[in-house]
Amino acid sequence: MRYAMAIDTKKCVGCSDCVVACQTENNVPIGYCRDWVTEITDGTYPQLELEIRSERCNHCENSPCVRCCPTGASHYSDGGIVTVTHNKCIGCGACITSCPYDARYSHPDGYVDKCTFCIHRTQKGLQPACVSTCPTKCMYFGDLDDPKSEVSLVLKKRKWKTLIPEAGTDPHVYYLI
Ligand code: SF4
Ligand code: SF4
Ligand code: SF4
Repeated sequence: MRYAMAIDTKKCVGCSDCVVACQTENNVPIGYCRDWVTEITDGTYPQLELEIRSERCNHCENSPCVRCCPTGASHYSDGGIVTVTHNKCIGCGACITSCPYDARYSHPDGYVDKCTFCIHRTQKGLQPACVSTCPTKCMYFGDLDDPKSEVSLVLKKRKWKTLIPEAGTDPHVYYLI
């Protein structure tokens, strides 16, 4: 099983409900976040295009953060989800530096935190909090190895991209374009 998320840049309206849902679900401290919304403008006036994306850890299949962690706190969990075992993390920050996506932050309690693909929910068969909250239903979550999963079907149907592919991290978050 390989969990993945597909996010439709054509449907995202930048409301940040995904950010609030994540902060509430995961007790993210005030002033920090596990996901965020990016707005990219392309072209020249009057031919301008705006892309809005909800971003988070990409749960990379070839993740530098797992490789560089000196204690094994950063590791792959079931379904390829990259997680951090809090009591094994010494807060050295190597993983923060190694992540090309700036997806991790230092939690005030002394460990490094980031998106977990809501593993506590997905293990119970629930959708991640951000996915189930999105008012435009622009996020799809599921198993890449299951050809009938929502995420596999939408990736077959639509054009997509990953972020910073040149980093060679093999991200598991896809952006529908
Ligand atoms: Fe985009 Fe959905 Fe998040 Fe709103 S809730 S910013 S539409 S991903
Ligand atoms: Fe690690 Fe960053 Fe990839 Fe997440 S996005 S798995 S933190 S390298
Ligand atoms: Fe936050 Fe869960 Fe969404 Fe990750 S999957 S951004 S932890 S709500």
